[in-house]
Amino acid sequence: MLIVMKADALDSDVERVAEKINNLGFQPHKIVGVNRTAVCITGNQEAVDPADFSNLPGVSEAISITKPYKLSSNKNQPQRTAVKVGETEIGGDNLTIIGGVCAVESREQVFAVAESVKRSGAKLFRGGAFKPRTSPYAFQGLGEEGLQILSEVRREFDLKIVTEAIDEKSVEMVENYADMIQIGTRNMQNFALLKRVGKSNLPVLLKRGMSATLEEFLLSAEYILSEGNEQVVLCERGIRTFANHARNTLDLSIIPAVKKVSHLPIIVDPSHGTGKSYMVGALARAGVAVGADGILIEIHPSPEDALSDGAQAILPEEYLELVGQLKAVYEVISAVGVS
Ligand code: PEP
Ligand code: MN
Repeated sequence: MLIVMKADALDSDVERVAEKINNLGFQPHKIVGVNRTAVCITGNQEAVDPADFSNLPGVSEAISITKPYKLSSNKNQPQRTAVKVGETEIGGDNLTIIGGVCAVESREQVFAVAESVKRSGAKLFRGGAFKPRTSPYAFQGLGEEGLQILSEVRREFDLKIVTEAIDEKSVEMVENYADMIQIGTRNMQNFALLKRVGKSNLPVLLKRGMSATLEEFLLSAEYILSEGNEQVVLCERGIRTFANHARNTLDLSIIPAVKKVSHLPIIVDPSHGTGKSYMVGALARAGVAVGADGILIEIHPSPEDALSDGAQAILPEEYLELVGQLKAVYEVISAVGVS
């Protein structure tokens, strides 16, 4: 249920609606728009009776929302959300490029990549210090030492840092060093972790679970939003299918599907989405064409030596060329008015 207030409703009217929701045992979430305020109800299992609210002072209408995700639904909030990471807006009228390494391996490796990310004009650098690996014997990341290298990149190159947290303890460390917290595909339904980042002041990059439906994906975002953190960016990174010519099947159809039902920004990760460096460019260009708000790309100065995801890493010079192409595709898309 969404309670839409009249344009001239008083703050006390809004408070009264919130109080009524609390008294019913549910949670009110205020959404302050340019012209009017709305209050969304969460926590109810059954439909709430609109008559409980429609006669209260200042209330314009009570709209029932049948979708299980409410705060991420664009019924609540028709204008698309732009999430700020430093000065960069993800989801505004622009294309955000996030370049970086899969795992932080050494200062030399990270600095070589950061140099090309800076040169490309991108503002966000991504690298993992905590790596959730399929095998317990695979490189697990440098941990806090990796975060320190990332904070050096932040200082030396004036880039904002996006990095993954894998449990509640690592969230705390990430909060001390980074500008955006990534939640990986394997943790999309780690609800304790989602609740924890929902309490963080940092924006969250939420990757789609490798077998998650659109509804499950948005419900995971809902865990973060309902804890009070409204800065959530979704990321399509490929799903498991029968196809074995690529590591995953990049599901670009989810971009228009998300845009149809949600106000949250969504970016595309063609690196994990294909797992093969020769496919990354083609799928990155397609991601821009299909309307993604940004593209995330893994780079390595010598992919054959990479400690993780070497097969999908592109070289710094390939990345620089690709960014030029992505900007050109974005310009065309914007010019024809379909982004
Ligand atoms: C990553 O971004 O390096 C990563 C592990 O991604 P995903 O969670 O999508 O596999
Ligand atoms: Mn990776």
